[in-house]
Amino acid sequence: MTDKILKRTAVFHRDFFETQGKLLAQLVEQGQSPKIMLVTCSDSRILPGKLFGTKPGDLFVIRNISNVLPPYIQAEIGTVSALEYAIHELNVAHLVILGHTDCGGIRSLDRLFEINQYPALSRWLEFIRPARREAVYRHSDMSSESLHQLIVERNVVMQLQNAMSYPFVREALEANRLELHGWVFYLAQQEVRYYDPETDAFLTQ
Ligand SMILES: [Zn+2]
Repeated sequence: MTDKILKRTAVFHRDFFETQGKLLAQLVEQGQSPKIMLVTCSDSRILPGKLFGTKPGDLFVIRNISNVLPPYIQAEIGTVSALEYAIHELNVAHLVILGHTDCGGIRSLDRLFEINQYPALSRWLEFIRPARREAVYRHSDMSSESLHQLIVERNVVMQLQNAMSYPFVREALEANRLELHGWVFYLAQQEVRYYDPETDAFLTQ
C-alpha cells in the first residue's frame, strides 16, 4: 500500500531535496538559528516560505486559527513553550504576527457557534472577538468587506499587544534583543502591508 498524498508530492520532493539538500544537511549538522518567529493563520492559502522567499532554517512558526497569541495568563502550554524556546534558545530577533484578509476565523465571528457542537472553536474565537468589537465601534457604517479588512488589521494589532503580556517577550524588547512586527496579507490585492504604530495604520513598503 502506498500513501497517495506522499506519492503525489514525489516530484516536488525530488526537486526540493535537489535544490535544498545541501542547506538541509548543513542545518542538521549545525542546528537551526532562525532570526524570525512567525505567528500566522492555519489558512491553506498562506505559504510563508513562498510569500517571503525564505529557505529552510529561516522561520520558526506557530500556526492557528486567525494568528492568535493568547494573553500570557490564558495561553496554553504549546504556545508559551514555542515562544519561550524561540526567544530564549533560538534568540530570534523578530516576532511577526501575520494576519490575512478573507480569514475564515474572522468571518466566523458573524456566526453563532454552539458551544456544545464546537466546544473548542467557540472558546478560541473569544480571543479575536474584541478586534471585531473595536472595528465596529470605530466604523459601524463601513461596507462588510471594508469592515472585515479592518477587523483583520485590528486583530493583528491586538495580538501584538498580547505579545507584550509575556514577561520574557517584554524583557527581550527592553534589552533590544527583539522587535515586534504586525503584517497583513491582503489576498485579493496580493500584497503585504506592515503596521505602523505612529499612524496606527497598515502601510505598503
Ligand atoms: Zn485565517
